[in-house]
Amino acid sequence: MAIERTLAIIKPDAVASGSAGGVITMIEEAGFNIVAMKKAQLTAAQAEGFYHVHSARPFFRDLVDFMTSGPVVLMILEAEDAISRWRELMGPTDAAKAGPDTVRGRFGTNIERNASHGSDAPETAAFETAWFFNCFERV
Ligand code: ATP
Ligand code: MG
Repeated sequence: MAIERTLAIIKPDAVASGSAGGVITMIEEAGFNIVAMKKAQLTAAQAEGFYHVHSARPFFRDLVDFMTSGPVVLMILEAEDAISRWRELMGPTDAAKAGPDTVRGRFGTNIERNASHGSDAPETAAFETAWFFNCFERV
């Protein structure tokens, strides 16, 4: 067990439906420390670079269009085992298959409009937190 940091995104669908507060409440009640948080409208370049590992996938263009369709909330979460614990709280990628006590189950719709993002490993967490927060914002 180790204290970790992970990048969380409340995606445009959940922000647009007024669910950002509900997601943040779930995060706080689960015991995460929100180290940094900001609302932003992503540019295509920011979304493409963030999801570069998926650039060859057939859904890439739709994913970038969705992620730039409205504002998102970006957060750095800190806790013991934050990376796996946040993914557990989010639920599976396909929100239609997510349980009612998960973020995606409560606030998502389907595999694309799935309300939230979480880093999947220490290396991606390091890349993703630095992608959106500069060194002064993530002390
Ligand atoms: P995220 O990285 O957003 O936390 P994830 O790690 O659960 O989600 P990935 O496999 O990394 O899932 O996919 C990244 C995102 O791409 C998903 O959250 C989803 O919005 C979209 N996506 C993944 N697979 C599909 C698919 N088959 N069709 C449409 N969109 C998809
Ligand atoms: Mg992923």
